Amino acid sequence: MVIRNIWAVGRNYSDHAKELGNDVPSQPMVFLKAGSCATVNSPEIWLPHWAHDVHHEVELALKFGSHLQVIEAAVALDLTERKYQTEAKKAGHPWTLAKSFHNAAAVSAFFMVRKLEDLKDLRLRLWVNDELRQDGRTSQMIFPPEQVISYIQERFPVCPGDLLLTGTPAGVGPLRAGDRVKAEIEGEITHTWVVHQEKPPAPKE
Ligand code: MG
Repeated sequence: MVIRNIWAVGRNYSDHAKELGNDVPSQPMVFLKAGSCATVNSPEIWLPHWAHDVHHEVELALKFGSHLQVIEAAVALDLTERKYQTEAKKAGHPWTLAKSFHNAAAVSAFFMVRKLEDLKDLRLRLWVNDELRQDGRTSQMIFPPEQVISYIQERFPVCPGDLLLTGTPAGVGPLRAGDRVKAEIEGEITHTWVVHQEKPPAPKE
C-alpha cells in the first residue's frame, strides 16, 4: 500500500517542547510530511547535500489500514533540518523544507498492533554510535495515540496506507555522515541505519 501522507504531531512530549523553547500545546499540533519522503526498512539514511543540521527525532509511527484502522506500527525517525526549521519558525513560514525533504521519514519494518491499548506505555530509545540520546515512554505523550487518531480523522483526508508520527521525547540532536543510528521500541522492533550525505551536484559547465 502506497504511503500518500505522513501526518505528524509536533511537541507531543512536554520535555521535548521545552528543550526547543516551545510552549506545550493545548491541542495536537499537526504538520504534514509528503508520503514520498518515507523510506521503509532501509539500512541507510541519505542526508541532502544542502542540509546543515539534520536532527533525529525518534517516534512511534502508526499505519492506517484499508478501513483506516491502525493495524501496524513501526519505529521511525522524523528527520528535521533544524537550521531551516528555526529560520522558518522565526519568519512564520511553513516547515516543508525542514521536514519533507528526500528520505526525511526513516521508518523500520512494521509490527502488528492488536489494540491501541497495547501502545500506551512503550519505551522508545535511540542511540547514535552506541551513545543513548533519546529515552522516553509513550505514556508521556500529551495527546495519546487514540486522541491524535480521532483528531486527525475528524479534520483531514486520511487515506489507507498513511502514516501517523506521534511525536518525539527529549534528546533530539544532529546526525552526521558515518553515524550509526539505532532506534527501538522495546519488545517490538529495533532498526539500525548508517548515515550518509549526498554529494553536491557538479557545477554546470
Ligand atoms: Mg517529530
